[in-house]
Amino acid sequence: MTEYGKPIPFPDNVTSTFWEATKDNKLLIQQCDDCGARQFFPQSYCRNCLAENLGWIEATGRGKVYTYTIVNRPPTVRFQEDVPYVVALIELEEGVRMMSNVVGIDPEAVRIDMPVEVVFDEITPAISLPKFKPVR
Ligand code: ZN
Repeated sequence: MTEYGKPIPFPDNVTSTFWEATKDNKLLIQQCDDCGARQFFPQSYCRNCLAENLGWIEATGRGKVYTYTIVNRPPTVRFQEDVPYVVALIELEEGVRMMSNVVGIDPEAVRIDMPVEVVFDEITPAISLPKFKPVR
């Protein structure tokens, strides 16, 4: 495997459960055991009721494009080979929104509300990034 070269997430005690699951191609989101609110990204407390009593549920991985942009100018030289690419806010069926990429499609063909499903990009042995592809 060649060196990845781009920013890599560093799992901590709040996010390690999420990143461990992505290695098994599972997408987890937090759900509050007190009020039932769901949230992404992972935090140590519920953003709705401030409880620290959070559990995890496995998302279906299906959702839709809430909004997106096409990146044409790479933020660093490491992204040169990727442009143009799509940065999107994906709204999962579970109601939370997740910043990611839409892959497997011409960026110009991406549309708001387009149905998508998760795919996992294994960038290192320790990290797989959840990305989204159109549902065919
Ligand atoms: Zn709560």
